[in-house]
Amino acid sequence: MAESIFTRIINKQIPARIAYEDGSYVAIHDINPQAPTHLLIIPKREIATLNDLTPGDGELVGGMFLLAKRLMADLGHTDYRTVFNCGEAAGQSVFHIHLHVLAGRPMAWPPG
Ligand code: 5GP
Repeated sequence: MAESIFTRIINKQIPARIAYEDGSYVAIHDINPQAPTHLLIIPKREIATLNDLTPGDGELVGGMFLLAKRLMADLGHTDYRTVFNCGEAAGQSVFHIHLHVLAGRPMAWPPG
C-alpha cells in the first residue's frame, strides 16, 4: 500500500507545521484549519482507520488523548473538541488515523 501523506510528513518528505513530536506521535497544525487552533495528533505507526485497531492498540490510542490534553493545556485551552473520522462517509480523507483537536471558538452540536 502507498504510504499516507501523514507518513510522508513524519518522514519529513513534505513540510508541515509540527506542534509536537516524540517517538510515537507527531502533532501538526491542519493545513485547512476549521478553528483558530486545529491540531492533528497522528501516531507514527500507520493504521488506516479506527476499524483496523486491535486490542493491543489501546495504549497508543489512549496516548493520543493524553497528548491532546497536554497540548491544549500548553496552548491555554480548557475547552476543545476531539474528533476521529472513520471511513469516507464519516468524512475521513486521509487513511492514517489521526485525532482532530479543535479549539478557540464555540463549537456547535450536532457537528454536521
Ligand atoms: P480527515 O478528513 O481524514 O478526517 O482529516 C484529514 C485532515 O488532514 C484534513 O483536516 C486536512 O485538512 C488535513 N490535511 C490533509 N493533507 C494535509 C497536509 O498535507 N498537511 C496538513 N498539515 N494537513 C493536511
